[in-house]
Amino acid sequence: MSKPKNAFEIFLLLDKSNCAKCGEKTCLAFAGAAYLGRRKVTDCPKVDWKALDWFTGEPEEGINQEPSPEDRLEKLKSEIVHLELAEAAERVGAEYSGNKLTLKVLGKDFSVDAKGNLTSEIHINPWVAAPFLSYILYGRGLPVSGRWVPFRELKEGRDRYPLFQKRCEEPMKKVADIYTPLFDDVVHVFGGKQVEKQFESDISVVLYPLPKVPVMICYWLPEDGMESSLHIFFDETADRNLDIGSVFNLGAGLAQMFTKIALRHGFDAGS
Ligand code: SF4
Repeated sequence: MSKPKNAFEIFLLLDKSNCAKCGEKTCLAFAGAAYLGRRKVTDCPKVDWKALDWFTGEPEEGINQEPSPEDRLEKLKSEIVHLELAEAAERVGAEYSGNKLTLKVLGKDFSVDAKGNLTSEIHINPWVAAPFLSYILYGRGLPVSGRWVPFRELKEGRDRYPLFQKRCEEPMKKVADIYTPLFDDVVHVFGGKQVEKQFESDISVVLYPLPKVPVMICYWLPEDGMESSLHIFFDETADRNLDIGSVFNLGAGLAQMFTKIALRHGFDAGS
């Protein structure tokens, strides 16, 4: 079995029911322990054996058909060298100075130079860096319309929506269910803002992974025997300011970051 890259990849394989049959209080705690080598993934009696094939190289439908964010990032870097950065900056609403194009990613400066070298105030995560380059290369720079739509309503979003739910919305919901201060942390860490509650949700938060591609996360608390739910919305212009694969990667990247925040706090709470 190849080694998972982070605890989030293990968390995705779990049932997420927090049944405690593995001896850990939560699936998040188990994922962290398994990643650190203190537990085996197979110690969870409910581990998803089909998904476990992901680590053994067997194709999981829909996932391995896309290039990895790392491969995509390298390809996009090679394309940047042919781009006139000053013109691109004007198109996408970025700054251009010192031969570098700079814009805000999750509230922090993120830059690229004419050779494709990336610099940032935050960790350069390929799930975010690849969409950043795609936005500069191919984004149309349309102004944000203010009309929120779900992923499945974006162009080419319908077919990918089941996977988007599985890799983005479901993990985020599980994290929010377990670690309720998540949204305050997210606003603080990623320069987001809590907005007026949308679609009758209990919490609505807007983040800016790219200036003209805002993301709104809405969370509904459990009520009257109904489960909680979480949905991610995009501005209706998102599929023209960014290709759909990059929109997907942004969602998956955010889900990873949220899980890391919760894992950090989960370990604190358990200590
Ligand atoms: S990791 Fe498995 S056994 Fe442990 S709490 Fe989660 S589902 Fe239950």
